[in-house]
Amino acid sequence: MNPIYRDMPTTIFEAMSMRARAAGAINLGQGFPDGPRNDAVIDAACDALQQRSNQYPPMVGIPELRGAVPDWYRRHQQLELGPDEVVVTSGATEAIAAALLAVISPGDEVLLFQPLYDAYLPLVQRAGGVARLVTLDPSGWRIDAEALAASITPRTRALVFNDPMNPMGTCAHPDDLALLARICAEHDLIAICDEVWEALVYDGAQHRSLMQYPGMRERTVKIGSAGKIFGLTGWKVGWMCAAPPLARILAKAHQFLTFTTPPNLQWAVAQGLASQDDWIAMARDQHQASRDFFCDGLHGLGLVTVPSAATYFVSVDLAASGVAMDDVAFCDAIIDQAGVAAIPISAFYAEAAPGHLVRFCFAKERATLQAALDRLAAAL
Ligand code: GLN
Repeated sequence: MNPIYRDMPTTIFEAMSMRARAAGAINLGQGFPDGPRNDAVIDAACDALQQRSNQYPPMVGIPELRGAVPDWYRRHQQLELGPDEVVVTSGATEAIAAALLAVISPGDEVLLFQPLYDAYLPLVQRAGGVARLVTLDPSGWRIDAEALAASITPRTRALVFNDPMNPMGTCAHPDDLALLARICAEHDLIAICDEVWEALVYDGAQHRSLMQYPGMRERTVKIGSAGKIFGLTGWKVGWMCAAPPLARILAKAHQFLTFTTPPNLQWAVAQGLASQDDWIAMARDQHQASRDFFCDGLHGLGLVTVPSAATYFVSVDLAASGVAMDDVAFCDAIIDQAGVAAIPISAFYAEAAPGHLVRFCFAKERATLQAALDRLAAAL
């Protein structure tokens, strides 16, 4: 057996969801919303299952979705892409895997930023890469330019950058994006940009991709997720966008991972991207209001939160809240004693985890959030 998988625990999101189900806990761990529901997209998928092809679609995605993705980016991010720059994948995790397999050769080094989504490190390692970890400064989750420079060697080939960032819900500072662009150009790096949270940026802020920074257009793989845009995380429809020479190589990796993605779901996502701008904005505003509601409730319990500007997540700072437990012990305690599941932020560190931060998913109905707050109040 490959030792990477043999020695690896089950992903924290799956493990916590299983524990939550077994304990009858309210699951604020794994990131998925319980609303709002987009009936137009779901109806389009039902129609397509009945009336359109259920056979293999084109390997790189159906033309309708390869057209709808650039149209959506043009409207929302002033980004000009062509259909030949889109490769549809079975979710963003497949896209990250395909991008790493396509870009790196055994022994190549890849820069990863901590806290990091838990799939990145094993995917880099399984592709034969060597991860170089750059730890973000927890005071504002900014990149330390010196630490970044010190992590680069002649073998560095790529970086993986998550913006907006899961787990902390921060948006990258423009100066940090400019810094990354300079470093990529200087060292001839490919940037694999996991931007699955791009439609869930709050407080009127505007997402701007690293792809739009000087020199990045030809060296960026921009990854997006319909599951996040439409709150349909189980659909596993994502995409990679890259300049044609890079996109052609990405497609080669994708063709021997999943090969294609269900055509009916692709069709429904294409319809949704073309027609659901108002719903997408409404869903974003609803999640923002849920964030505010949940944070107010946490503050009422004497818990201090770290500002969240995007995603489904907000973190509690246990140390600042005067809770004398580490994050893993706290998550164990609240799932067992309060019946609320959350995720310890140490799961997002490969080394030197801070140990005092706990992530909660606030993308839930008010009644669910209120019930979780009541349970925490009774147990704390
Ligand atoms: N992205 C989700 C989260 O952060 C988890 C996805 C998964 O479980 N693979 O909670």
